[in-house]
Amino acid sequence: MEVDSEGEVEIGSLTTVADLAASPMISKKFSVLSQAAATIGSLQTRNKATVGGNISRAAPSADLVPALLVLEARAILLGPGGQREVPLSEFFLGPGLTVMGPQEILTRIMVPPAPVASSSLYLKQGRRKSVDLAIVGVAVLVAWAEEHNLCREARIALASVAPQPMRAHQAESWLAGQMMSPELINQCADAAAAEARPISDSYGDEWYKRHLVRALVTRCLRRLSDQEE
Ligand SMILES: Cc1cc2nc3c(=O)[nH]c(=O)nc-3n(C[C@H](O)[C@H](O)[C@H](O)COP(=O)(O)OP(=O)(O)OC[C@H]3O[C@@H](n4cnc5c(N)ncnc54)[C@H](O)[C@@H]3O)c2cc1C
Repeated sequence: MEVDSEGEVEIGSLTTVADLAASPMISKKFSVLSQAAATIGSLQTRNKATVGGNISRAAPSADLVPALLVLEARAILLGPGGQREVPLSEFFLGPGLTVMGPQEILTRIMVPPAPVASSSLYLKQGRRKSVDLAIVGVAVLVAWAEEHNLCREARIALASVAPQPMRAHQAESWLAGQMMSPELINQCADAAAAEARPISDSYGDEWYKRHLVRALVTRCLRRLSDQEE
C-alpha cells in the first residue's frame, strides 16, 4: 500500500485483508475501509483473502466493496490490450460478473483522499456476530460543513441488497446541504430501504433486508452525527 504526493492511496490486489485491516495508515485515512476489512470472515480467512479476490469474485455481499464505493475508488485492470482504469461503481455487472475481459486482471485499487472534514462507518448484519456473510452491509461517509452537524455531502453504499453492491443516491440526496436531525435521518433511511433491491433467500426475506437497510443506515448516521441512540 502506497500513498502518493496527492494523498491518493494505491492498494495492490495481492494485499491481504488482514494487512488492510491492520494498517494504521488505512485506519487513519479511510476508517470505513478498515472497519469493513475487520468484519471479513475469521483471522485465518483474512490472512489468506486478498483485496483483489474480494473485489474480483463480485459477490453482492463483499464487505470491502461498499466501503470502496463511498470512497469513490477506481480499479486498475491489465490485459493484452494494455492497462485501463474503471471507476469501481462501473466495475460490477451482476453476481460473479465484472467488466474484466477473459484475459484481464485487477492489478490495484486507487483510493482518492476522503473529502475534507469527513467521517465514515461500515456496519454489517450477518446471521451471527462473526464469520458470516452480510445479510446487509452499509457504508456511510459524511462530509461536514463548518457549522455543527451540517452535512455538506453524503455517500451511502449497500451490500447484499442488489445483484451488485450499490450506491443509494436517492437516500444521499436527502442529506446534502442539510442539518442532521432525527427526522432527516429517518427520511434518508426510508429512502435507502426503498432504493434497495433485495431478494428473498436463505439469508432473509426481502422485507427483512429492507428493514435492516433502514436500521443500519439510521445507526450509521446517528453515530456519525450527534444523534447517537
Ligand atoms: C470461511 C470464509 C469466510 C468468508 N467471509 C467473508 C466475509 O465475511 N465477507 C466477505 O466479503 N467475504 C468473505 N469470504 C469470501 C472472501 O472474502 C473471499 O473469498 C476472498 O476475499 C477472496 O480472496 P482470494 O484471494 O481468496 O480470492 P480467490 O478465491 O483466489 O479468487 C476469487 C475469484 O476472483 C478471481 N481473482 C482473484 N484475484 C483476482 C485479480 N487480481 N484479478 C482478477 N481476478 C481475480 C479468481 O480467479 C476467482 O475467480 C469468506 C470466505 C471464506 C472461505
